[in-house]
Amino acid sequence: MLIIKDFPFTVVFSDNRVNFSWKTESPAIVKENWLNLKEKLKIKELRIAYLSQIHGKRILSAKRAGFQGWGDGLITKKEELGLCIFVADCVPVLFYNKKRLLSGALHCGWRSLAAGIIENLEKLLIKKGIKPSETDFYLGAGINPCCYEVKSDVKFYFEDYPSCFVYRNERLFLDLPKLITIKLEKIGTRTIHNLSLCTKCSSKFFSHRNKDQGRQIALIFHSIK
Ligand SMILES: [Zn+2]
Repeated sequence: MLIIKDFPFTVVFSDNRVNFSWKTESPAIVKENWLNLKEKLKIKELRIAYLSQIHGKRILSAKRAGFQGWGDGLITKKEELGLCIFVADCVPVLFYNKKRLLSGALHCGWRSLAAGIIENLEKLLIKKGIKPSETDFYLGAGINPCCYEVKSDVKFYFEDYPSCFVYRNERLFLDLPKLITIKLEKIGTRTIHNLSLCTKCSSKFFSHRNKDQGRQIALIFHSIK
């Protein structure tokens, strides 16, 4: 598990040593895993906002812990509220703006990107007076171009991004982290940390396309001390 602290924000990317998904692990173990995470983060209460992820562009504003609805992005200005995205091949994107104390999390597969989740984020940030250029972004582990074979029609959704596709033995592969990076740079982002780890061919991560045994979390938490 990778924990990055940049006060007041903490960024967490888990791996396959801990399963946080009720769908693939017993509720008792998942509960224990969340309690252990709370200890690790040294916080009194772990208040988490999460979504039912649907591979679209919808970004919701979280005001409280618990289920927020259907969508693929969360933002908040609330202190001590964690935003959580579950992943197993799609790329999780976490971000924060220290000036305006806003944090956010996105679930980025090709469908969310084709639907315009990054462009939607730009609109939301502008509306709130937040500059993408002053916001720090983190891309967690996801399926990388070594393994991400896509059907040829996927290319039509990203005609402006030919450098994100590569042919090998007449098979088409998509570089999802690169596509996200270029889209973020297009909206003015300057600071993008990319873990550059592939969930499918690394033995360290859950992968939907490789056995589908669990989910990683990408969590951003706003502490007060
Ligand atoms: Zn790979």
